[in-house]
Amino acid sequence: MIGTGYVGLVSGACFADAAHCQVVCVDSNVGKIEALERGEMPIYEPELGELVQRNVAAGRLRFSTDLPNSVQQAQVVFIAVGTPSRRGDGHADLSYVFRAAEAIGRSLRSPGFTLVVNKSTVPVGTARRVRELVARNAAPGARFEVVSNPEFLRQGTAVRDFMHPERVVIGVPSDREPAAVAQFAPGDGDHAHRALDPDQGSHFDAKECARMLMAKLYGPIARAKQVPILFTNVEEAELIKYAANAFLAMKLEFANEIADLCEVAGADISAVTHAIGLDGRIGADYLQAGPGFGGSCLPKDTRALARIAQEFWRPCRLVETVIEGNEARKRRIAQRIALAAVAERADMNQVYGRCIGILGLTFKAHTDDIRDSPAIFIVRELVELGARVRAYDPRVSHREVRQALGDEIELVQSVHEAAAGADVLAVLTEWPEFRETCAALGPQGLDKLMRQRVLFDARNLWRPVDWQGSGFTYHSIGRPTLY
Ligand code: NAD
Repeated sequence: MIGTGYVGLVSGACFADAAHCQVVCVDSNVGKIEALERGEMPIYEPELGELVQRNVAAGRLRFSTDLPNSVQQAQVVFIAVGTPSRRGDGHADLSYVFRAAEAIGRSLRSPGFTLVVNKSTVPVGTARRVRELVARNAAPGARFEVVSNPEFLRQGTAVRDFMHPERVVIGVPSDREPAAVAQFAPGDGDHAHRALDPDQGSHFDAKECARMLMAKLYGPIARAKQVPILFTNVEEAELIKYAANAFLAMKLEFANEIADLCEVAGADISAVTHAIGLDGRIGADYLQAGPGFGGSCLPKDTRALARIAQEFWRPCRLVETVIEGNEARKRRIAQRIALAAVAERADMNQVYGRCIGILGLTFKAHTDDIRDSPAIFIVRELVELGARVRAYDPRVSHREVRQALGDEIELVQSVHEAAAGADVLAVLTEWPEFRETCAALGPQGLDKLMRQRVLFDARNLWRPVDWQGSGFTYHSIGRPTLY
């Protein structure tokens, strides 16, 4: 498994556990591998620590920075490196994938067959380029195939999602594609001669072998719950992942727009989304209105899909609108929080020096990830408006927050400290701890801590009725403000 991040580490540990295969998780980040070898998790993901520990103890899972040696021993090599947005144009940055492909190619030995599986989320056409790069760098005659196996796990429930997927997608090159064999250089040894021998080749069907290996790997996971394994061509597999994420982003943006309408129309968004979500054609998931979608996938994948579609001269206007709507939303939420802090004045110039308590910096609860988190965007906007921000999140790495926000905010260790002296207390991530602590404090406890009695609940963590008659102004999303 090349890349030991949220996807690589979870997939590696799950395969070791479910398929009982030997897994080596490789990463170029030495610190990550050293931490894993010490038994420390480099990321926070529920259930992951125990799973890793169990499989390390059983001798099925280990960690390494030695890519060539790990690849040489492997029958199947997964690429699970990052594909962040390229600066400037929104396209997926494929440099990590291509570097991994070249390194895999250099490590392939002939004879033998290696299956290279691209698990990273990549634009259509990438598997072909990975195939070319592996072939260009491999020893003459080395036999391999490249398939595409997009991952659908969600951070925060990654282990459960991987073990209980709704479907597994495996894109195999169509039968029109010639078998993947590295170029034969004249004068090379017998092995290469044999591998390139058309008679020998005819006994071995690389694509069929790829299908069988993937079915075997996923078998124990798929069989348990009768999960469909969908074999597609590689282009379909690559597009399925982007189309799925764009659709989820569209649902969220749709819920956010309807929430804005609810606020002025005197309706409650939760009543509306609950009712429409019961319609099987719509589904209840990803209809939670909030401060805008974020995280390491939806923003970058919608941007990448929009770019891919433009390059194919088939622009996806709907996806472009979703991206724009989400950017505007995060800015608007920041402005609403700022205005809530200056309650009675309704004047942005008054925001300077106001103290804003922030609860939550990760893009959602149960993760430590702040990549493309709406909370980080909103905090940055509030600081720009001149507010003093005091933030608490139970899981973030202080080093990463410093990298994202510099020294401009005060990071504190509890809900109490975030609320202390605040003109408004804003919930930006739905950590259950925030609900519980504030419920325990009650309006009176919060009143003692805060400078003004104003709450901004961007995750609809509370019910308006909880604050009725409390003396607090309670702002939330898609519901009338309570004064
Ligand atoms: P990540 O940033 O958490 O991890 C990537 C890891 O790859 C890093 O540890 C990095 O050091 C390592 N790496 C990069 N180049 C390497 C190389 N040449 N050799 C060895 N290691 C290398 O990324 P992630 O969140 O796990 O995402 C990986 C891919 O999976 C992305 O394409 C992402 O879009 C996709 N994906 C992510 C999620 C998610 O929830 N995070 C879900 C589905 C799909």
